[in-house]
Amino acid sequence: MTYEELLEKNRRYLWNPFTQMKEYCEGEPLIIERAEGVKLIDVNGKEYYDGNSSVWVNPHGHNRAEINQAIIEQLDKIAHSTLLGSANVPSILLAERLVGLTPERLQKVFYSDSGATAVEVALKMAYLYWQHRGQPERQRFLSMGNAYHGDTVGAVSVGGIDRFHAAFRQLIFPVERVTYPYPYRFPGTEKECMESSLQELKEKLKEMGKEIAAVVIEPMVQGAGGLIVMPNGFLKEVERLCRQYGVLLIVDEVATGFGRTGKMFACEHEGVEPDLLCLGKKLTGGYLPVAATMASNEIYDAFWGDHAEGKTFFHGHSYTGNQLGCAAALASLELYEKENRVGHVQELDEWLGSLLAETAKLPHVGEVRRKGWMVGIELVRDRETKERYPWEEAMGARVCRHARELGMLTRPLGDVITFLPLLVSTKEELEAMVSILNQAISEVTGP
Ligand SMILES: *Cc1c(COP(=O)(O)O)cnc(C)c1O
Repeated sequence: MTYEELLEKNRRYLWNPFTQMKEYCEGEPLIIERAEGVKLIDVNGKEYYDGNSSVWVNPHGHNRAEINQAIIEQLDKIAHSTLLGSANVPSILLAERLVGLTPERLQKVFYSDSGATAVEVALKMAYLYWQHRGQPERQRFLSMGNAYHGDTVGAVSVGGIDRFHAAFRQLIFPVERVTYPYPYRFPGTEKECMESSLQELKEKLKEMGKEIAAVVIEPMVQGAGGLIVMPNGFLKEVERLCRQYGVLLIVDEVATGFGRTGKMFACEHEGVEPDLLCLGKKLTGGYLPVAATMASNEIYDAFWGDHAEGKTFFHGHSYTGNQLGCAAALASLELYEKENRVGHVQELDEWLGSLLAETAKLPHVGEVRRKGWMVGIELVRDRETKERYPWEEAMGARVCRHARELGMLTRPLGDVITFLPLLVSTKEELEAMVSILNQAISEVTGP
């Protein structure tokens, strides 16, 4: 089928997520047909670097024979059967692998099918945990301003990005919020920025700690909020305060997990041990929608009891623990080991930093932020005053649009250009991608 025919059908039948359909339908949308390694190929045969790992999900490159094969082998046995009251082979084996990989405290795996549902599950577990433990007054959640935890209503409740979330204010449950440390936009030093956020957190916990079920946080980097890297030591201090006030810690590693920040999990940077951990995105190697909420034994045990005690966790999804997805995840984890994926990210870490030093010098780049291979490039109208571009100018979107013309795909978060290359990328590929980014930024933002 030709591009024009597909486009016509897209206009007629398909509603794309996070997309203004008027603009989309009037433009020349991209229609991908296939991919190879770090490149996506559209129906016209044009190739593009996948500059954001297909929205942060793909670690090893597209069309990997090892993962393809694992799915085919599983497919020959069974595609799906329910995990409600029964189990299947790959879901058990994957649970064992995940418990072995993640921080010590996390000993049980509960599956769902997207990052958002992994967060929903964590929230409901934390909420019920306190009911089962005889502290039903702990009903509130404390989250970070500007956080992103997904788009279902519970995840939106703990989210804090006005552009996405404000419209749903009447629909969501109330949440306590603490200002997330954003050193670039803080009038003071990084240390002062961190202290100010921690002070807020302390005050909130002091004031209403006994009503808080859990603190929810994205570790080391706030993702969709603008790729904002937290000051070192912040996460550890959040953990310490949670323990001090007896509050559960929910860490959302949906974006940061599986090597993105240079450690298998971002928690490892500061030796943090959450009570609940949310995983998604790269879990299946970028192939299939499987997510997981990992829990401590303490939480799991609070739900343990006879039928009549009514402690069963009444939550599940039709495709929970899907065999194809779990088989893909197992094959992906094997590739992490076999190809030393995280070691590769670490090896090129410093070098990627020096490569991006050129980007940071461009006249309209306010800041290049980075943790591992998770990069945010904040564009500003004026570098001196850090003045933002007017929202209506959609500068970030225009830069990404030009990058596409130059052969690389990525998405903006407002005026922050996201660069999250596939973790398999070579030096040459990273160089080519950064060079496209630099050209796109210079040509669109001008002198
Ligand atoms: C992407 C993301 C989610 C939501 O995951 P989905 O699979 O899109 O529902 C949740 N939390 C974080 C930190 C994310 O980056």
